[in-house]
Amino acid sequence: MDLKELADLIFPDVKEISYYESKYPERNLPEGAIVTRFAPSPTGFVHVGGIMQCVINRQLTNQTNGVLLLRIEDTDQKREIENGISQIVNSVHDFGIDFDEGMINETEEKGNYGPYKQSSRGEIYRAYAKYLIEKGRAYPCFATPEELEEMRQKQESLKIRTGYYGIWAKYRNLPIENAIEKIKNGEPYIVRFKSMGREDRKIRHHDVIKGNIDFPENDQDIVIIKADGLPTYHFAHAVDDHLMRVTHVIRSDEWVSSIPLHLELFQTLGFKTPKYCHYAPILKEEDGKKRKISKRKDPEAAVSYYHEEGIPAAAVCEYLMNIGNSNFESWRRANPDKPMSEFKFELSKMSTSGAIFDTVKLLDVSKNIISKYTAEKIYTDSLEWAKRYDAELQEMLERDKDYAIKVFGIERGNVKPRKDIAKWSDIKNSILYMFDDKFEENNEEYEFQKITDKDEIKTILKEYLEKYYNPEDDKQAWFDKIKDLAESLEYAREVKEYKANPESFKGHVGDISTVLRVALTKRANTPDLYEIMQIIGKDRMEKRFAKFN
Ligand code: GLU
Repeated sequence: MDLKELADLIFPDVKEISYYESKYPERNLPEGAIVTRFAPSPTGFVHVGGIMQCVINRQLTNQTNGVLLLRIEDTDQKREIENGISQIVNSVHDFGIDFDEGMINETEEKGNYGPYKQSSRGEIYRAYAKYLIEKGRAYPCFATPEELEEMRQKQESLKIRTGYYGIWAKYRNLPIENAIEKIKNGEPYIVRFKSMGREDRKIRHHDVIKGNIDFPENDQDIVIIKADGLPTYHFAHAVDDHLMRVTHVIRSDEWVSSIPLHLELFQTLGFKTPKYCHYAPILKEEDGKKRKISKRKDPEAAVSYYHEEGIPAAAVCEYLMNIGNSNFESWRRANPDKPMSEFKFELSKMSTSGAIFDTVKLLDVSKNIISKYTAEKIYTDSLEWAKRYDAELQEMLERDKDYAIKVFGIERGNVKPRKDIAKWSDIKNSILYMFDDKFEENNEEYEFQKITDKDEIKTILKEYLEKYYNPEDDKQAWFDKIKDLAESLEYAREVKEYKANPESFKGHVGDISTVLRVALTKRANTPDLYEIMQIIGKDRMEKRFAKFN
């Protein structure tokens, strides 16, 4: 009896691997093209680290005319949720990233290298497992869970490495005829890889991000096909990345320790190994200590956070690029107006220790990005957000579109644009006073700052409206008039003048404009007062000022 017979008994109806080798030929791509993949499990949760990976993958594949594919790793079917795949596709799409190949929803896919869902690739894995059995590099293992547990306890009590290797690999050398007999008797089994590695021998591996790493060889006879007929992660990784002709495996460094095993699998299967690029996870700093950003502790680990807060996807992507590549920041400084797609991403410039996620920095990036938007875009994007998350804001924006756009247009355009909006959830508060009903409803305390005397305030407002305000004035004339008003009431025209001689004045022009600003908005800090007055208009200004009569 020979290995062929054993292999046929275990996998009677599978194709020859040559079938798959020619079905999925080498890709015909330009020199240097990167083919890579995003390979999540369909658990429904998309982690910000996953988005970072997609941002990087997309940048690298775009800049090399390569291919980015979405492979769904659903061999652990216990962890799946309904619509898990669509949720992943949609979440990533919301960040402006689409895949060239792979799953597009629960059942459909695009591309010539599929199926792209591992649970649909069973026959392919079995063909390669059969090939390994025929080569004598895989075998059926009949160890029961109890037997394995007993072995583990023994190893622990002897203080040696746990696992199925060397002399512990009980079924590794079972004579073929015994194996065949057991299978025919219906004994349950799984299929294991037969490793030829030795723990006391070292290999040196070059990781594109981490550089050279020395490892002991793999000597574990890992499970490759489980009792349910599906492959384990390791085996599926080798078969899929080979057949999908992936050139770069870019993944989180939790997989680094699997490199020796993966190298042995690739080699034994006769596959060319891809380039491995292991990046460090995103970190959070807490009480001076660094730790991995966590789904449980950090709201910003989940992509839903960014949607709920209304942080534009472009800002999140740019921020992730920023923490992804140490040289991005200086590139951005030198090229403030270029699209991010022109930045040349280099894997070798990724952090090996882990980049720290800093929300303040993220919001800063976001402010910058929003400051470049037109008022129309701010209107459209914030309205879209409001429709989902803030009915009151939605109503304010929809009641008079042109007016809302004018409000967003304050200090935008030719002048240096304002950088005060970081997220759509900030917007309502920052524009409330431009809407009469909201202005009226606002019961927050406010102060006129330096000038506290009621009569003085009344006089300032009255004089301004009666003698100085003219809606036709340009900004210069408008400001000169406020200075005239200041002077007429014994305030200095210039702050400098006041500072040189404080006893000679009641205050300065700034105090006067604060009174106008606060009466008009109930706020001491607002964008440009001239523009606000232009938009609010004389009638409404009179009404607001009348309250102080
Ligand atoms: N399914 C694996 C994970 O989500 C993929 C790892 C890889 O990219 O190879 O961690």
